[in-house]
Amino acid sequence: MIVNMSDSATDEQIEHVIQRIREAGFQPHITRGTERTIVAAVGSGGRRHEIEALSVAPGVDNVVAIAQPFKLVSRQTRPQPSVVDVAGVKIGGEEVVVIAGPCSVESREQLFETAQAVKRAGASMLRGGAYKPRTSPYEFQGLGVEALKILREARDLTGLPVVTEVMSTEDVDLICEYADMLQVGARNMQNFALLRRLATANKPVLLKRGPSAIVKEWLLAAEYLLSGGNSQVVLCERGIKTFETATRNTIDLAAIALAKELSHLPVIADPSHGTGKQSLIGAVSRAAIAVGADGIIVEVHPCPERALSDGPQSLDIPQFERVMRGLSAPLRPVLAPSLHLARA
Ligand code: PEP
Ligand code: MN
Repeated sequence: MIVNMSDSATDEQIEHVIQRIREAGFQPHITRGTERTIVAAVGSGGRRHEIEALSVAPGVDNVVAIAQPFKLVSRQTRPQPSVVDVAGVKIGGEEVVVIAGPCSVESREQLFETAQAVKRAGASMLRGGAYKPRTSPYEFQGLGVEALKILREARDLTGLPVVTEVMSTEDVDLICEYADMLQVGARNMQNFALLRRLATANKPVLLKRGPSAIVKEWLLAAEYLLSGGNSQVVLCERGIKTFETATRNTIDLAAIALAKELSHLPVIADPSHGTGKQSLIGAVSRAAIAVGADGIIVEVHPCPERALSDGPQSLDIPQFERVMRGLSAPLRPVLAPSLHLARA
């Protein structure tokens, strides 16, 4: 349930509502907007009728049910978009954020070269896997803590905040010491123990959509983080499994627009895992931004042919520079004569 306070509600009236929500057996979550304050009553087992009755409390405009199962993630609870601050880089604000770097950290030289190049080309954050969720146990599993140390050095060298994947609750504290943002990989989107643990970590989370997750499940996974106390969450569409095999996954551009519509959380796109193909990264990045993505996360490697993971979808440095130039070029004009007439 949401209690919409009136524009003129006083602090005492808001405090009274918060108190009543607690007494009714719910947790209050307060969103102070520029014009009005919204107090959400969330949780299970509370007495709804006591919240409904608040519609006549002083300073209350109205009380409405939250239509969606993801309560705190919903735009209803927070109409204005959230901005997530990752060590000074703002995701969800005016600017489109580009996160770039290798799929896996392989060596100091490989990461430093990539980090410096992506920074020069305009990226504002660095990615790199230390713990890799590989489909086969015989594939490269990541350098672990050694990679975390190299990531930290690359961050110090370039000033780019770092995001890296966490696969297990046991690694959370260690990764928090080295990284600015923790990625929950697609395969772990519904690892509820991990989500619960990250809800109490003091770091922003990049939550990838599971390969077979519907949008509701993705947003409910984010709800675990918000309801547990971490509202610094960025959603990432990275492609889903469909019958199509020509691309590695099917990137769901409509889901980006839909997630932005349903939720206040920032949404970014991963055209690397979303397509699996170097040649498609530029076009799909532009498309993602056109449908409202707040940023992109792209895999870049100095020599994709030698990459220990995801070489076929990794851009080399000149390719990444071209993609970056393409992102600032205007979209094609619409030539339909009727549109020109309508504008004239
Ligand atoms: C990755 O970012 O390298 C990765 C493994 O991503 P995903 O979880 O989307 O497959
Ligand atoms: Mn990868």
